[in-house]
Amino acid sequence: MNRFPSFRTLAGAITLLATVTATSEAVTSGIPAQTTGETAGVPDLSAEVMSETPAEPAFPDVFPVSLKVCPVMHVFNRPEADDDLVMVNYAPVVSAGESVKLATAPVAEGCLSSGFGMRRTRLHEGVDYFNHTAVDIYAAGHGTIKEMTYRNDFGNMIVIDHGDGVFTRYAHLERFSGLKEGATVAAGDVIGLMGNTSSRKIARHLHFEVLTGEWGDEAGSFALTPLNVFDLPAADAEG
Ligand SMILES: [Zn+2]
Repeated sequence: MNRFPSFRTLAGAITLLATVTATSEAVTSGIPAQTTGETAGVPDLSAEVMSETPAEPAFPDVFPVSLKVCPVMHVFNRPEADDDLVMVNYAPVVSAGESVKLATAPVAEGCLSSGFGMRRTRLHEGVDYFNHTAVDIYAAGHGTIKEMTYRNDFGNMIVIDHGDGVFTRYAHLERFSGLKEGATVAAGDVIGLMGNTSSRKIARHLHFEVLTGEWGDEAGSFALTPLNVFDLPAADAEG
């Protein structure tokens, strides 16, 4: 669906506005008051333009508004944090692609235990959020569940397709919520519980990736390119 009113509609509205401004005494400032349109028998232009913009649900406030770097552990690729270990420049909601908004930390609770980047000899293609207890894991944005499976490396893993070539991966879940592959999710929907599933012994945490590109015929999500969620621009959580 088109997010923006078409040029033609805008041009039409502007022409009509000019006419209204020129002919109606009710409009003196050049800005049409919402009530004057109806009383003057002129369509309410503000409402017409608004109706062309689809109502996008506001981002829910379940996501952490600030994030701490985990204490007492070595955090690879540690972002800048203050004396209390609170990340500076933390944006709870970010933009990925032209139309996709994502929560930076899709967890009910947790601290950052590993950043994105080289970790010894391997690229850590996501960020890790650690918590002692099995807290809820949320869909980071609106989308559909593309994959839900168990792997030796990622344990119980979910990949969500957000459209616009943007995907997110959630790994090591203790268990999945009742949702199935193909299910539509909204940002903030519970998709599982934080866990430590993997063929290796690991601490409880969420491994979270933001991925972009085209889903692979053979490689699936592994054909996608990982992005550092902390590098993405902050987005407005409303609308
Ligand atoms: Zn990880």
